[in-house]
Amino acid sequence: MNKPANIANGGCREAPILKERGQREVFCGLTGIIWLHRKMQDAFFLVVGSRTCAHLLQSAAGVMIFAEPRFGTAIMEEKDLAGLADAHEELDREVAKLLARRPDIKQLFLVGSCPSEVIKIDLSRAAERLTQVHAPHVRVLNYSGSGIETTFTQGEDACLESMVPILPTTEAKELLLVGALPDVVEDQAIGLLEALGIGPVRVLPAGRADAMPAVGPETKVALLQPFLGETASALTRRGAEIIEAPFPFGEEGTTLWLRAIADEWGVTPEHFDAVTAAPRARARKAVAQAAEHLNGKSIFFFPDSQLEIPLARFLTRECGMEAIEVGAPYIHKGLVGADMDMLQTDCVSEGQDVDKQLDRCRAARPDLTVCGLGLANPLEAEGLTTKWAIELVFTPVHFYEQAGDLAGLFSRPIRRKELLKVAS
Ligand code: SF4
Repeated sequence: MNKPANIANGGCREAPILKERGQREVFCGLTGIIWLHRKMQDAFFLVVGSRTCAHLLQSAAGVMIFAEPRFGTAIMEEKDLAGLADAHEELDREVAKLLARRPDIKQLFLVGSCPSEVIKIDLSRAAERLTQVHAPHVRVLNYSGSGIETTFTQGEDACLESMVPILPTTEAKELLLVGALPDVVEDQAIGLLEALGIGPVRVLPAGRADAMPAVGPETKVALLQPFLGETASALTRRGAEIIEAPFPFGEEGTTLWLRAIADEWGVTPEHFDAVTAAPRARARKAVAQAAEHLNGKSIFFFPDSQLEIPLARFLTRECGMEAIEVGAPYIHKGLVGADMDMLQTDCVSEGQDVDKQLDRCRAARPDLTVCGLGLANPLEAEGLTTKWAIELVFTPVHFYEQAGDLAGLFSRPIRRKELLKVAS
């Protein structure tokens, strides 16, 4: 990987990491389907799972579905090994019915889950068989969204990784943005990159199957999310090069992310400044407003979204917060190393032993605790102020124009607590 020259060392990259392997409180990888199906307009996500999986999807997606949804669950009842052939036939029948009814579907993802009856089914074999049956109209891929040993953001990583082997090959020098962002945010990024003279810019995942990017030895990859480690490795195996940079959260993160890409394309500092000066100023102003309520406050991250390290970097450097502990489910220094170079914190932890971590959090009494849904309510009941990590993935938070909103996500719960104190 190329390391950007303009990042100072002195952060926590080389600091000892507290590694914990105890009980974990994480959310299931099927959740990614909610934002992935919005992004890929001709894809359908068929979860091969249980009634629990169907309920999770329904509640995560909300019940107000007006259009026909592009995800569903093929419910597999308990089967012994002799029943596995039936399971494959049943799956084939369900897929045939679905594709006959929905000719708009061009990509079908069979999404594995964790019930034991599903683990026995070889979904990669099923995807190969179904691709042969339904090609060229539909491409069938598979990945696991299982809740065993995963965090909810690994679902997106597994989905994008499953697409890498079938991407066409190119010898052209292209920038590949990797990660599913809302269209409006993605358009802002592409607009900035094009104004800098960088391109062609491709995106994985593309909005439609026929617009999927190509990959090759001249492909430069800029990751949009820090949880795409498996996808990054798969792209590297296809010859692509990952541009190492802090993630584009906040004014500073966005500038350094753009600068690292600009260096690959030989953009001059003068042109870079001319293009970025106005949005940088807007972002700084917006962050400063929200940071009034964050300055001097402490924050504690439980491991959940895998966004923890880049966000802690943003909150400590741009909003004046103190990071007591930054917990992440996995720490892949090849991906978040540039953010770690800039992050000052007393403790970086990887993995979880939830009771021990709760004890550390209670002892520290942070002003704000970022955690999963399961921990937020009990901590609120103990008088701590919390922020749900999952909101950070469902809300547009990348790049200059969203920097103020990102800071606002953290300042709102603190502000609310202050108002409640005044009122009581
Ligand atoms: S995949 Fe596992 S954790 Fe996720 S909803 Fe299904 S049963 Fe629950």
